[in-house]
Amino acid sequence: MISEFDVAIVGGAFSGAATALLLKRRRPETSILVIEKATEFDRKVGESTTEVSSCFLTRILGLTSYLGHDQLSKQGLRLWFSNRPDQPFDDCVEIGARYQARLPTFQVDRAKLDAHLLQLAEEAGCKVWKPGKVRRCELTGENGQSLGVEVAGEERTVRCRWVIDASGRAAFLARKLGHFRPNTEHPINAVWARFTGVKDWDSYEWREKFPAYAAASRTGRAWATNHLMGQGWWCWIIPLKGGDFSAGLVYDSRLFTLPEGANLGERLQQHILAHPVGREIFREARIVANDTRAYSALPYYSAQVCGEGWAIAGDAASFIDPLYSPGLDLCAYTASIVSDLVLRSLGGEDVTARQGYYNEQFAITYRLWFETLYKDKYFYMGEADLMSAALLLDVGTYFIGLVRPVYANPERFFLQLPFQGAPGRIVAGMMKFYNRRLVALAKNRIAHGVVGTANSGWRELYDGFVPDFRLQKLIRKGLFRWWKAELRNLRFLFASPKRAPSTVASAAATVEA
Ligand SMILES: Cc1cc2nc3c(=O)[nH]c(=O)nc-3n(C[C@H](O)[C@H](O)[C@H](O)COP(=O)(O)OP(=O)(O)OC[C@H]3O[C@@H](n4cnc5c(N)ncnc54)[C@H](O)[C@@H]3O)c2cc1C
Repeated sequence: MISEFDVAIVGGAFSGAATALLLKRRRPETSILVIEKATEFDRKVGESTTEVSSCFLTRILGLTSYLGHDQLSKQGLRLWFSNRPDQPFDDCVEIGARYQARLPTFQVDRAKLDAHLLQLAEEAGCKVWKPGKVRRCELTGENGQSLGVEVAGEERTVRCRWVIDASGRAAFLARKLGHFRPNTEHPINAVWARFTGVKDWDSYEWREKFPAYAAASRTGRAWATNHLMGQGWWCWIIPLKGGDFSAGLVYDSRLFTLPEGANLGERLQQHILAHPVGREIFREARIVANDTRAYSALPYYSAQVCGEGWAIAGDAASFIDPLYSPGLDLCAYTASIVSDLVLRSLGGEDVTARQGYYNEQFAITYRLWFETLYKDKYFYMGEADLMSAALLLDVGTYFIGLVRPVYANPERFFLQLPFQGAPGRIVAGMMKFYNRRLVALAKNRIAHGVVGTANSGWRELYDGFVPDFRLQKLIRKGLFRWWKAELRNLRFLFASPKRAPSTVASAAATVEA
């Protein structure tokens, strides 16, 4: 059986369905086939949206009502630090917002969101083969592309002008074309599960038990993306509509080893229970059966993201790190750029320059996004003052550089990848500098055996990030916190480093001034 389409999309989850929808809405006469191998989507990961991905969901895709009715509203980020397992809950350091989030963001059950998006694409007129698995692909540029697809045990051939790869980590085209590159500078892994019976952080019982904690915040904590932080690792705790919680651990294998246990779920749970905040929240929690997963070697990228008759969107193009939840941001940018490119090409425009832009700028964006925000960050992840400085500076810059423009003009700015041009490189240079300094400060502390000394007895609840001049205050706070840490670092000037007592310390063998 041979079928012909203008566009065939490999993968029908977030990126594939969003790209299909954008194409069909903007050029209804386009014939589009979406091929999705899963019979049903599972909940996967990618549950916490940011201000940028939410802008894409609400303003570009128009899902405000759906998200309000069918998913949870997210209430910012919260970080929790401790310095010993028996530390009392209300002595742990909390960093987060005092008030409700100012811009809409969501906690999404991805099984539901992906199914909804794909249904919208189908209703808009796209053809969907589900389950259907793309097994073969021949790219012959101007002469058209051909896919071999297995559907219900039979092999079908698809001919099309454009193939869009939205196959996620399978990275179908990047691997086939030899463009797939693991990012070995960032050896991080993840394990996660869904839980029931997680304690309600905002309950009456908690208010009675921890009155100072309850009085400090004007908003609920349970609907935030709560993070437990440690040396070389962090855990997310994300509520889902209906009462389950998603919880997962991401760790740098240079610094941290997952505790032993009978199975992955148990090992994850034991680790969460070893943190004083995790213990309070997960004391009576149970893992949902058959919903524990793990990925190793998380980051990678494709050295090329488009060519004659093909383009890559979403995780099929790259992945860096889930801290700050940037996954769907990159899906939003790439789905927008790829759909724009294909529409122009189908409309008869020469898109060579745009393809050049996408290939060139994507490589720059990946590299700078990694170096500014994530490179070696796991060295200081467990240090409350250093992470607090980083959070204020990272999120403040994100609001200035990305959130402000996409809210001002989403149609225009989703077509421009982050860190573009000279301004992008200047900002990247500044961010890389403070990130490098925070890493150096943490390594120094590790080498001198004084880690976690700032991890007790304080709470920093700020007003919340807004995309306007009020960001100055938060950025200033972040700078002061960093400079204060530099001053504290002077105490090591004449002290010699101690011998490394743990994996953390040995990984920090390079002492930096
Ligand atoms: C541990 C972890 C935590 C994360 N947390 C967040 C978060 O909180 N917020 C956030 O924004 N992002 C997060 N992310 C990233 C987020 O999950 C991804 O960016 C997002 O799911 C990518 O969507 P996608 O549609 O590109 O790919 P996917 O969701 O992976 O979809 C790819 C689809 O392609 C299909 N497919 C694959 N191969 C074929 C084939 N040969 N034929 C047909 N179909 C095929 C698959 O079945 C799948 O449905 C996280 C990632 C990880 C690893």
